[in-house]
Amino acid sequence: MIYDGVFCENQRDIVIEALKTAKHSVVIAVAWINFNEYGSTIYELLQNGVNIRIVVNDDVKNARYAGFIKDLQNNGLQFKMIQMPKNSNYMHHKFCVIDKTMCMMGSFNWTKNANENNFEDLSISHDRALVEGYVSQFETIWSLSIDDFIRLKKPEICESCGQPKAYLCVFEQEGYYQTKADIYEVCGCGDLKWVNNEFFDVSVYINLMGIFERYSDMDEEDFLNGFTINEQERKRSLDYEISRYLSKVRSDRMGCPIIHAVGIYGWKPIYKDDGENIIQVLWKERYTSNYVMDEYVIG
Ligand SMILES: [Zn+2]
Repeated sequence: MIYDGVFCENQRDIVIEALKTAKHSVVIAVAWINFNEYGSTIYELLQNGVNIRIVVNDDVKNARYAGFIKDLQNNGLQFKMIQMPKNSNYMHHKFCVIDKTMCMMGSFNWTKNANENNFEDLSISHDRALVEGYVSQFETIWSLSIDDFIRLKKPEICESCGQPKAYLCVFEQEGYYQTKADIYEVCGCGDLKWVNNEFFDVSVYINLMGIFERYSDMDEEDFLNGFTINEQERKRSLDYEISRYLSKVRSDRMGCPIIHAVGIYGWKPIYKDDGENIIQVLWKERYTSNYVMDEYVIG
């Protein structure tokens, strides 16, 4: 039985025991993995039809298991070595999510040295917020290339205002059948520079609005039943669903090097009947929160 808690010894046995509980899926982002120690457990899971994705840091320590990894790949393992911009940067995560319900994280790398010689910690949790946080981080590093990572961490700078430039995709429904996506370039200058647009099936917009509606229905129902709503928890959960839905834009760049954020058009009241047209940002790509704003005024 796997219990939630902090484990400071025998982490390898705990990791293996936890892995063996997997029924559907395992995602692992751990800087260094010794496949002699964990390979057979991973192999068994693959044989049982468990979907497994692993990312490790791209270096010689992991490369020496190339043969072992190839075998596992032939048995269905999806595997990536993440190369960082410099040799001194690392894919330094140490976490694993099992069946989207349990996460393991801490300082512990899946190596012999970490298990036998170091002071290390490994925590296990079934907390939904934690699990969802790790799942979305995994999806981010799984889907972004190293060039993307550099673009996000070191964005292009606008020559006029000296602020980072970002591409914003704004969805709206157009007629009965289409979703229109307008792409804008934004920076600190204050004006939105329209770049281009693309069209998708109307369902793209309708499904997005459907997520908001479902949450507002839940709020209403809870209110009518006299339940107290944990607003923070609900907002976090809504954000997670939206980000999961919108992270598809990572693969469709819509003619831009990368899409930094996604939003919808809105109207913000200022005083009495007065207000302004805005773009409300619903989703930001990772590593952009310090330069992509929550809303932009349409001048
Ligand atoms: Zn500017």
